[in-house]
Amino acid sequence: MSPRTFSSTISEEALKNLQDLLGDRFLVTEEEIHPYAFDASSLCFFPPAVALPETKEEVLEILRLADKYNFPITPRGSGTATTGSALPIGGGLVVSFTRMNRILEINSEERTAVVEPGVLNGDLKRELKKYNLFYPPDPASYTFSTIGGNVATGAGGPRGLKYGTTKDYVLSLLVGLPGGQTLRTGPGTLKGVVPYNITPLFVGSEGTLGVFLEIQLKLLPLPEKRALFLIYFPEELSALKLGSEILLQGITPACAEFVDKTSILVIKERLDAKTSSIEGLLFLEFDGTKEEVEKVRVKIREILGSKELFFQEAEEELEIEKLWEIRRVISPSLRTLGSKKISDDVVIPRRGSLEFIKFLRNLEKETGVLIAAYGHAGDGNFHVNLIFDEEHEKVALQVREAILRKVLDLAGTLSGEHGVGFTKRSFVVWELNDFQLEIMRKIKALFDPKGLLNPNIKLP
Ligand SMILES: Cc1cc2nc3c(=O)[nH]c(=O)nc-3n(C[C@H](O)[C@H](O)[C@H](O)COP(=O)(O)OP(=O)(O)OC[C@H]3O[C@@H](n4cnc5c(N)ncnc54)[C@H](O)[C@@H]3O)c2cc1C
Repeated sequence: MSPRTFSSTISEEALKNLQDLLGDRFLVTEEEIHPYAFDASSLCFFPPAVALPETKEEVLEILRLADKYNFPITPRGSGTATTGSALPIGGGLVVSFTRMNRILEINSEERTAVVEPGVLNGDLKRELKKYNLFYPPDPASYTFSTIGGNVATGAGGPRGLKYGTTKDYVLSLLVGLPGGQTLRTGPGTLKGVVPYNITPLFVGSEGTLGVFLEIQLKLLPLPEKRALFLIYFPEELSALKLGSEILLQGITPACAEFVDKTSILVIKERLDAKTSSIEGLLFLEFDGTKEEVEKVRVKIREILGSKELFFQEAEEELEIEKLWEIRRVISPSLRTLGSKKISDDVVIPRRGSLEFIKFLRNLEKETGVLIAAYGHAGDGNFHVNLIFDEEHEKVALQVREAILRKVLDLAGTLSGEHGVGFTKRSFVVWELNDFQLEIMRKIKALFDPKGLLNPNIKLP
């Protein structure tokens, strides 16, 4: 069967079946479906209908109906994707998982949890604290994005440097497939090699291979102590250089976040007033036992003192979160610098970071398009944002292409954590060769032979 044989709308009979199944949790009026036509990209696609299932049995019935009546499905968590991946680009039904938000199990002995996909990352973190347990992946959206969305995008965050990203914490998944079949991807134990290890295939699959019904996560003990340094630099590249220097000394921060001079424009008011001409910031967080954190603090103070750098330091949870808030507001605040914004989350090997930032500054000078590039410097993952007004759209798109080409020249990759979605789909052929794409298409066809799941994203 061709992967594009569905109708972009949903037949009357299918709509009736969905209505009977879900009652008032099946949305069809324009007013009701309006919030589901957007995500955090600047795209807008109205779905013909939205389903709000509350149980896995309801999701499986929706998947049976999709297969029977041939309509596409867009799984959706909180809709914070930056790439259009939560939007019904080919029409069809949006299935929102926000009502499947129960934490099903917390097992302190095994250090695992089982959650429904709609649980918010921040809610899980808060609950685990009561058990002295810790789920490290921390996208800046963690208070409002879902674990299902995090798994589907392979979300990362500042802690990725020391702890890895979502992919390192998914032990197994219960996946629903078109037609209503379920697939458990792992044995559910902490180790196990009997099945092929297909769980990682689903992490970052952006809702194109299956929908997650239950997610089993690996947990860690909560670190005893945290300490955060916010370091100010008169020149932006020095912030990156210090980050590398610290790693080369064998010190591993939990987080090393870089803020460039354009991003500083939108957070200036929140910075310490004693600083004037600041062009770069570095957030360095350390965690561990009290003794470990104290030892590293002494060392970092020594390094900063020898370089005569100004810094703020926090060790109480509230103070630490207040400083982190400065970093978290950058993404939404950049919209105040221009009427349009294009954002990418590219990754380059760390050794290419300085060359990359210099390249961006030259490009900015040549074209007049404002470029912000902040993010997870520790693992080479930069959030590159182009900010411009309507009349400069054409040149901004050319700038974007030049940046993506440079990333690949530096042996990087086009997305580290936000995914491909719709906005990067046409660039995937720049990174992957025909054989890689053929394998990806075969994998997609294995789980979703009719191409009903999120059909217009990820694969070119
Ligand atoms: C201010 C802001 C800051 C951000 N910071 C970060 C960051 O630091 N790091 C980072 O990685 N991302 C970041 N993001 C992007 C976004 O928050 C993440 O991609 C997040 O993982 C999306 O979760 P969500 O619940 O909003 O999912 P959605 O946006 O609703 O969906 C994302 C993808 O997941 C799929 N999906 C959702 N639920 C399921 C399911 N149950 N089964 C199968 N597929 C499913 C969707 O089809 C879609 O492809 C940020 C976004 C914003 C707006």
